[in-house]
Amino acid sequence: AEPPPAAAVPQAGDPALMLLHRIGTTDPASLDDYRANGGYTALRRAFALGPAGVIREVTDSGLLGRGGAAFPTGRKWQATASQPDHPHYLVCNADESEPGTFKDRVLMEGDPYALVEAMTIAAYATGAHRGHLYLRGEYPRALHRMEHAIGRARARGLLGDDILGQGYSFDIEIRRGAGAYICGEETALFNSIEGRRGEPRSKPPFPVEKGLFGKPTVENNVETLVNVLPILTMGAPAYAAIGTERSTGPKLFCVSGSVTRPGVYELPFGATLGELLTLAGVRDNLRAVLLGGAAGGFVRPDEPDLPLTFEGTREAGTTLGSGVVMAFDDTVPLPRLLLRIAEFFRDESCGQCVPCRVGTVRQEEALRRIVDRTGADAAGDIALLREVGRAMRDASICGLGQTAWNAVESAIDRLGAYE
Ligand code: NAD
Ligand code: SF4
Repeated sequence: AEPPPAAAVPQAGDPALMLLHRIGTTDPASLDDYRANGGYTALRRAFALGPAGVIREVTDSGLLGRGGAAFPTGRKWQATASQPDHPHYLVCNADESEPGTFKDRVLMEGDPYALVEAMTIAAYATGAHRGHLYLRGEYPRALHRMEHAIGRARARGLLGDDILGQGYSFDIEIRRGAGAYICGEETALFNSIEGRRGEPRSKPPFPVEKGLFGKPTVENNVETLVNVLPILTMGAPAYAAIGTERSTGPKLFCVSGSVTRPGVYELPFGATLGELLTLAGVRDNLRAVLLGGAAGGFVRPDEPDLPLTFEGTREAGTTLGSGVVMAFDDTVPLPRLLLRIAEFFRDESCGQCVPCRVGTVRQEEALRRIVDRTGADAAGDIALLREVGRAMRDASICGLGQTAWNAVESAIDRLGAYE
């Protein structure tokens, strides 16, 4: 099997890593290699604990969702497990599409059995017997490796009926996305699996109550699920001692742009932006760093002490999101970059609600006018951008419209993008 691109995991081979330790050191095609390197220890512990015990461990670990929204995973699992309506479903959201996010790709390509094992544990804990892996269509190698791993696990009694002789049955079906960013929104993703248009549903009801096919569904991101393995093998107290009190455990950061060693980095929560950028080879002429991707916000390079935690970035007026850290040096024309982000949102809006459908077009038009009139007074268009941005944030149905103005706003307010 081909290894992941070397640049993708600069820390590859470091045994101290909790999520990336097998990447680049074990053969992603080999179930024997996976088992020889700690694989399936967590599932055995899960069976020993029972579903309620697993949920207690995950809750006590403080694990927060790694897709971007940081919702407590234990709470989500408990809410699904306690629903009287059946069947329950598990969905793994692997439609990683936030610009600058590529950590789930690295996990699926480099350690596919870890996701199979983690999905089995999540399903067992929440009373599901069917799992869907919704995989980004542009990830053919991840698809190939996940298909292979699921097939091998099934052939060896680790999926299917009576897993490890415990009388529990579970299987995984892969569905491929077709290139729409909005299908990563959890309810649009359900519609896509069900064969409908990929449009978000109104929440509540939340998926834990009415999700896939209207049934109780736990939907987790790839990185969230993979964290359950160290939680069960090391125990919740040891896991919760890593990171900070409110952001526990390790986090994967996707570093790209104006750095010499781009790639996925694993650091405990609470490491600073400066520490991460130093690891990735920061350049002297850094002008701005985009945290959280297109839906996130810019920070200035003179904020190196910014703690990389959910609470720390929130307090600093930005977001950690899915762990995007995109660096831009002073050769990057910011107005053009912002226009590119606006084009992205206009293109990816599903068009279901007016504030987003119209707002993303108006935002792009205003930013294009500013770029075309280089040097001329931008004040009128900036005022319009603020008004449109407020309407999108307050009145859009889903996260796409609600966050479509975040990056532009932060570039104006923190970077003085048009001064
Ligand atoms: P959200 O805050 O609405 O929900 C987060 C999760 O918590 C969802 O699964 C939701 O169902 C659940 N939840 C929230 N309240 C609940 C309750 N009361 N009971 C039970 N469950 C509850 O956020 P969202 O719209 O699902 O996601 C937005 C995030 O997605 C953004 O932070 C963005 O960073 C991220 N994002 C990530 C990618 C990527 O590629 N990883 C792409 C786009 C957006
Ligand atoms: Fe669709 Fe945008 Fe409305 Fe979300 S906010 S439902 S993407 S139109």
